[in-house]
Amino acid sequence: MIIEPLTNPRPVELPDNPGFGVLYTNRMFVQQHTLDKGWHDSRVTAFGTIVMHPVAQILHIGLAIFEGTKAYRRPDGNINLFRVDRNMARLNRSAERLGMPQVDAASHIGYIESLVKLEHEWVPTLPGCSLYIRPVIFSTEPTLEVRVGREFMHYIFLSPVGPYFAKGFNPVSVYISHEYVRAVRGGTGEAKTTANYAGTVWVAEQVRQQGYQQVLWLDAIERRYIEEVGAMNIMFVRDGNHIITPALSGSILHGVTRESVLQLAPDLGLSVSEERIDVDEMLADIERGRITEAFGVGTAAVISPVGKFGYKGKEYRINDELTGPVAQKLYTALTDIQYGRAPDPYGWTRQIKIT
Ligand SMILES: *Cc1c(COP(=O)(O)O)cnc(C)c1O
Repeated sequence: MIIEPLTNPRPVELPDNPGFGVLYTNRMFVQQHTLDKGWHDSRVTAFGTIVMHPVAQILHIGLAIFEGTKAYRRPDGNINLFRVDRNMARLNRSAERLGMPQVDAASHIGYIESLVKLEHEWVPTLPGCSLYIRPVIFSTEPTLEVRVGREFMHYIFLSPVGPYFAKGFNPVSVYISHEYVRAVRGGTGEAKTTANYAGTVWVAEQVRQQGYQQVLWLDAIERRYIEEVGAMNIMFVRDGNHIITPALSGSILHGVTRESVLQLAPDLGLSVSEERIDVDEMLADIERGRITEAFGVGTAAVISPVGKFGYKGKEYRINDELTGPVAQKLYTALTDIQYGRAPDPYGWTRQIKIT
């Protein structure tokens, strides 16, 4: 890997709340893939414009996959990565689904570590803030043929981020869409592809105009079983101490946060189950008071409590639209491990030493 010198680096600027996806660091990682050379020309270069052919496949058939993980500032000043091996495994599963080349997980983790280490001053120290890491692979091959690509670019950029939701750790309102769907079994819903998002943003905009912040997606076939919320997996709490989440169905993304909560919760005295969750039964249980909490789980927001659902013209409030004890407990336990404030008995973190 070549590390190019920076000619005109911007001074590190870290406002109290850096927002989400507004600021970028000075450098990014880039490499290319061709059939004859494999992955090559790996370098850390200045963060900046990518030039491509107007007929590059990404622009016409949307061949792109991505990942999202974060670097966290530890109390001792060093930096933690969290379960980045799981992100690499998922990147390779996404690549396989779109006929893209695999990456070598170990060297890829090495690239991320080197890049973060070079840009370590951009890892915020303020609570709730972190450095978002976004690897992207897309087809640069100029062709109008609809088929797998033969030339790819892979890049990784870094963005200092504050809490994902502007309102902070406050319950959001969620609209349950019975009209539009995100993913269908047999489609690409399990892969982290940009195309999965393209079909959702207009729907999200429509519900925003009705006063909701997120969309809850149902299964595409019966429009009956709960799948995901926005770009997060979803969980419910029954009777105060049992966590239920939709079982992976073929159209639900395998979230690293979801997986981590399922592993962590029993050690916090909470039971867990993965089920097929019927939306009508769930809403009836909310009305009966049996569902005491609902929250989204994902890298960006970590835990995002749901205050109310809207479905077919009716509203269902949960826990008086307040953050519940289970969401709070999970958020604290998970972020304490991520930021290195608590021991990591699961071996989930990798430390980048800078001091
Ligand atoms: C990335 C993503 C998630 C969350 O996954 P994490 O690994 O926990 O960040 C959930 N759903 C969708 C559709 C996603 O793209």
